[in-house]
Amino acid sequence: MSFPDITSELKARLPELRGRLIANASLADITWFRVGGPAQVLFTPADEADLAYFLKTLGGALPVFVIGLGSNLLVRDGGVPGVVIRLGRGFGEVKAEPGHTLRAGTAVPDVKVARAAADAGITGLAFYRGIPGSIGGALRMNAGAHGRETKDALIEARAVDPRGTVHVLSNADMKYTYRHCGIPEDWIFTEALYGGEAGDPAEILKQMDEVAAYREKNQPIKERTGGSTFKNPPGHSSWKLIDAAGCRGLRVGGAHVSTMHCNFLINDQGASGEDVERLGETVRARVKANSGVTLNWEIIRLGLPTDGHPIGEALALPAS
Ligand SMILES: Cc1cc2nc3c(=O)[nH]c(=O)nc-3n(C[C@H](O)[C@H](O)[C@H](O)COP(=O)(O)OP(=O)(O)OC[C@H]3O[C@@H](n4cnc5c(N)ncnc54)[C@H](O)[C@@H]3O)c2cc1C
Repeated sequence: MSFPDITSELKARLPELRGRLIANASLADITWFRVGGPAQVLFTPADEADLAYFLKTLGGALPVFVIGLGSNLLVRDGGVPGVVIRLGRGFGEVKAEPGHTLRAGTAVPDVKVARAAADAGITGLAFYRGIPGSIGGALRMNAGAHGRETKDALIEARAVDPRGTVHVLSNADMKYTYRHCGIPEDWIFTEALYGGEAGDPAEILKQMDEVAAYREKNQPIKERTGGSTFKNPPGHSSWKLIDAAGCRGLRVGGAHVSTMHCNFLINDQGASGEDVERLGETVRARVKANSGVTLNWEIIRLGLPTDGHPIGEALALPAS
């Protein structure tokens, strides 16, 4: 499927734009699940000023959605109308600053931030070693692991709102809760400032190795997956509820529930976006029937289904 090409129209409307616009860009190629349709337009801004110019001049005329490294995204098969923004090199710097702080652009992978912090002897960011997203995704999702989350290390973040205004947000402004940030969903983070304590680089690198070894052993990190599919409901582990509902290994089309970690869904046989979403919704329905607990998606689902197909709960298969 493809959308009408509106890139010429956009270029005419945005004469000072320096970033790149691509029509009908594959999102399957740049997201972990490797499923789903294209973005009507994929925009890679040159830098923060270019991003602000784009948003201000566009004035909300088209839907806009920002993605990072696509490690927490499920793209539907009908693709994403409007503009998908992906930050690139202009947001790719990471540098240590005085007072055991570290500044990173939001296109920087979390693992690179963990390494830079270790090199500079800054504690508190080793947990980023195991999270395969970008800093933008980490700020939005309050990404966390091994007892720490983004909230614990962040001093402040920069963001551009849909009018093109740049904001500096304190940690408290972010209104963080478990895997959630309270900043409006249409604001785009451009930079983060982290703070830690002085630490021994060798000791921090050792912690990072431990994080990597744990992941390797306990999670299917080399598969086409979106990581943890559902948030842990208060007082429960999603994987335990999924296991108890008999869903370990459950298959729908080209996707199945990981047998290694059953809160992970895996595309191992050329799944469609719909296969993955149907699998997730079937798991949710079976967990609800078995335990009475409602699982909520942690993975962000994005875009339109194939014409006329349902989305969400309506996809769940009946109990067998
Ligand atoms: C194997 C595997 C293991 C994982 N383990 C963990 C884990 O231990 N802990 C954990 O928390 N997560 C984990 N995840 C999930 C995922 O890596 C995190 O949620 C990560 O923070 C997402 O970052 P991303 O750049 O891939 O964002 P994407 O998946 O591209 O996007 C996720 C959300 O972030 C938003 N976003 C992205 N960039 C920006 C930006 N610049 N400004 C505003 N919003 C933005 C998107 O709009 C979307 O809502 C795992 C995923 C995989 C595949």
